[in-house]
Amino acid sequence: MNITLLGTGVGIPQNERVQSGLIVDTGHGPVLFDCGSGVLQRIYQSAYKHTSIENVFLSHLHLDHCADFLSLVKANWLCDVTRINLWGPVGTRKWWNDLMCTYSYMQNKIDININELSPGQTVKIDGLEIVCITTVHALPSLGFLISFAGRTMLYTGDTEPVDDIARASDGIDLLIHECSFPDTFEVDNHTTPKRLAEMLRGITIGKIILTHLYPQTRGFEEEMVSVIANACKCHVEIGHDLQEIEI
Ligand SMILES: [Zn+2]
Ligand SMILES: [Zn+2]
Repeated sequence: MNITLLGTGVGIPQNERVQSGLIVDTGHGPVLFDCGSGVLQRIYQSAYKHTSIENVFLSHLHLDHCADFLSLVKANWLCDVTRINLWGPVGTRKWWNDLMCTYSYMQNKIDININELSPGQTVKIDGLEIVCITTVHALPSLGFLISFAGRTMLYTGDTEPVDDIARASDGIDLLIHECSFPDTFEVDNHTTPKRLAEMLRGITIGKIILTHLYPQTRGFEEEMVSVIANACKCHVEIGHDLQEIEI
């Protein structure tokens, strides 16, 4: 399973980080998870063609996770590719239908197959199994436990540290967890290093990559990594845009 981090940033612009998005590739075509602003450009800069993306999962409908989906659909349409399967939390269908009311010139020219998901549901695509995990955020949101050929990773989307993620993470090869702020901030709906370390203490994970980094994390990277690595006894690193990981 090959993973490409497309965007490791948030709603505030940063030099090296666009908003959220990553590709999981098992050799059966890239599957896109989240599609925030800047992700379409990162796809162009990656090894993938935007026209090859047939399956998209949205963790939630905050703009920094879905803003470029409309741009992706339009870009594909301009290249004569009109079908995408879209999975997202409850509300995804209304969100898309509302967008199509505004951009009605696209409405009958594209074919978006929408499936709304809830925690516990499983989706299977060409041997890839995706289980939806409960997360805690400001609106309906999902984490995705992704397995293929005996390898497993979990992408959290936006969340506070929650037990369901810890349980689902035990024994996996890769955890891509949001870590929005350093420990100098106290936040709801997002994760800080100490709280993540407490949640993951004693859990066996191959490797942890931190993503969804606010500009406020700049200068705290080493500290963030060591707090979590000490608790988990595994390799922890800060993710960066266009980083490729193989598990
Ligand atoms: Zn969010
Ligand atoms: Zn976000």
